[in-house]
Amino acid sequence: MFDTLSDRLSGIFGKLRGKGKLTDADIDATAREIRLALLEADVALPVVKAFIASLRERARGAEVSQALNPAQQIIKIVNEELIQVLGGEGRRLQFAKQPPTVIMLAGLQGSGKTTLAGKLSRWLKNQGHQPLLVACDLQRPNAVNQLQVLAQRAGVDVYAPQPGNGVGDPVQVARDSIEHAKRTAKDIVIVDTAGRLGIDAEMMQQAADIRAAVDPDEVIFVIDAMVGQDAVRTAEAFRDGVGITGVVLSKLDGDARGGAALSVRHVTGQPILFASTGEKLEDFDVFHPDRMAGRILDMGDLLTLIEQAEQAFDEDQKEKMTNKLLGGEQFTLEDFLDQLIAVRRMGPIANIIGMMPGMGQLKGQLDELDDSHFDRVTAIIRSMTPGERTNPKIINGSRRLRIANGSGVTVMDVNQLLNRFTDAQKMMKQMSGMMGLPGGRRSAT
Ligand code: GDP
Repeated sequence: MFDTLSDRLSGIFGKLRGKGKLTDADIDATAREIRLALLEADVALPVVKAFIASLRERARGAEVSQALNPAQQIIKIVNEELIQVLGGEGRRLQFAKQPPTVIMLAGLQGSGKTTLAGKLSRWLKNQGHQPLLVACDLQRPNAVNQLQVLAQRAGVDVYAPQPGNGVGDPVQVARDSIEHAKRTAKDIVIVDTAGRLGIDAEMMQQAADIRAAVDPDEVIFVIDAMVGQDAVRTAEAFRDGVGITGVVLSKLDGDARGGAALSVRHVTGQPILFASTGEKLEDFDVFHPDRMAGRILDMGDLLTLIEQAEQAFDEDQKEKMTNKLLGGEQFTLEDFLDQLIAVRRMGPIANIIGMMPGMGQLKGQLDELDDSHFDRVTAIIRSMTPGERTNPKIINGSRRLRIANGSGVTVMDVNQLLNRFTDAQKMMKQMSGMMGLPGGRRSAT
């Protein structure tokens, strides 16, 4: 899924990796390449234009965090713009105040409507609802049967035309199904409608008539992600002809280029509610714009790291780090303590190390840095004089004893801390370089 786009983006970010600072020329070149990558992924032109305009503006603006290096700054912006294009916070399914909630499914033939009906009913049932599937696709010969098979697998009931009652009239079947749902205490009605191979006036009219008959709480347009932007144009036609309240992306497991997923929200103005990722009933989930963006960028761990680095290192600390730790000035025990506090704010140390390529071997060394250890280290450093913190070399035997007594630990603990301080000095340099703190770059140039 989205492999080509992911590869293209990671290649573009890779070129920024060695840079110490983003120039306007860098931003222009990057924006051009991202524009091309999006167009190649079949993203609709208005979406691409809006995306790139926003990217340029943000990359040039002052909002860019100083805690990140240029590649990370661009990745962060691209990630946030992708989330925005995919729908921001996302939206959940709307339920009727007075049951039954009516969900109508619309879309072209083969888009995955009937399959979605089964998936949605199973998903709702697992959440404690009592869904009823309604077979209004009376055009495709096997559609009713297919729905019945899916319903059986999902463990839900189907309402289909009864002999002599509504055969051939999907609008009447839909209308009757609501009464049937009330009689049988179903709280959700999922209406599967007929699709055609292309946009067709008669099909639109039928869908509009069904909509008028059942007054649905949601009209969900099912869009085959593999068809790309073309499918988005169909969604637009349905929006205008029938009215839709949301979209489901199907076949995201296939070789989708990303065009449909990235265009549909912007083009139709309607949110993506769910994503279908296979033929089985369980290959289905609520759509999360942030997770999808993460998958497109294919660098989930790095994004987490960027977020955490930003939270942990505020401006003051950054300045201090840059000047003291990496600018050639002496790294003191005071800085060590600040660093520990900052690193600790990033969450369990083992997790952070796990996210850094090649840092696995350091994990064992850091496992000891749990809460109690941290408190002890803090106490020891606070028992030192400012002179000792600035220049630990002066801490001789008698000073060690005094510090140990002052902080309620043994001399061995003090020795251990001082040894670890020396190790940490090296490690912090490594870590800050890997996290791309500006100072790390600066020291390399
Ligand atoms: P409908 O005509 O819109 O009702 O489409 P169907 O539900 O019959 O789906 C058409 C074909 O696509 C069927 O062979 C489904 O098994 C398949 N299909 C549906 N959803 C997905 C999906 O998310 N992934 C994959 N790989 N196939 C799907």
